[in-house]
Amino acid sequence: MAYRRALLKLSGEALMGEMGFGIDPSIVQAIASDVAAVVQSGTQLAIVVGGGNIFRGLKGSAAGMERATADYVGMLATVMNAITLQDALERAGVPTRVQTAIAMQEVAEPYIRRRAIRHLEKGRVVVFGAGCGNPFFTTDTTAALRAAEINADVIFKATKVDGVYDRDPVLHANAVRFDHLTYQQVLSGELAVMDSTAIALCKDNAIPIVVFDLFGPGNIARAVSGESIGTRIAQTV
Ligand code: UDP
Repeated sequence: MAYRRALLKLSGEALMGEMGFGIDPSIVQAIASDVAAVVQSGTQLAIVVGGGNIFRGLKGSAAGMERATADYVGMLATVMNAITLQDALERAGVPTRVQTAIAMQEVAEPYIRRRAIRHLEKGRVVVFGAGCGNPFFTTDTTAALRAAEINADVIFKATKVDGVYDRDPVLHANAVRFDHLTYQQVLSGELAVMDSTAIALCKDNAIPIVVFDLFGPGNIARAVSGESIGTRIAQTV
């Protein structure tokens, strides 16, 4: 076990697979069985889930909605993903609690930092929904914030590609993948990893970020075991 406590960031888009919108149950099930293996290995795991498969605030505001209102809709979308993930995790035998930054106690616990840590210590997965509860933020920034709050050793950012490249590898066949980067290189190179608020928060709190491909079978467990898959971002290379 390479990490005592880790935070996994799953984008909403990761949950929709090839569907283009919504939630693909087979993808969620595959993620759940991967997470079950991680928890069995003894690493405490918290998850921040995005909502881009259902609604994004920026898209809503581009269509004329007030930005803050659109962001609240985006945050509510993340709760649907969180509850769906909880259902899949519990079916895979992993005790799971959802905590939301916007209170909705009929469906989930409110976010209480010390309680989240207690759940983790008891071997439960904690899924954080509703972002950080504030508009104008992202779930990547939420991942950085919650990781700092729960003293996570690392953030695993699961994506559709196997790391960070100097340019979009889907569009450029000769794109080069980085094994290691510093926070500063990500910020000054404007590399599309996480938004700059998230990177700055990780930098200030020295939380390493590992960007890896979610869809390789067993990849979450491989990343959490310390295998060097993907790109590692830290203070020094
Ligand atoms: N959001 C927000 N505050 C937060 C987290 C999320 O307002 O702390 C809103 C924002 O509108 C965002 C949406 O929720 O577009 C979905 O989150 P995000 O885009 O980060 O999801 P992902 O890209 O990971 O699927």
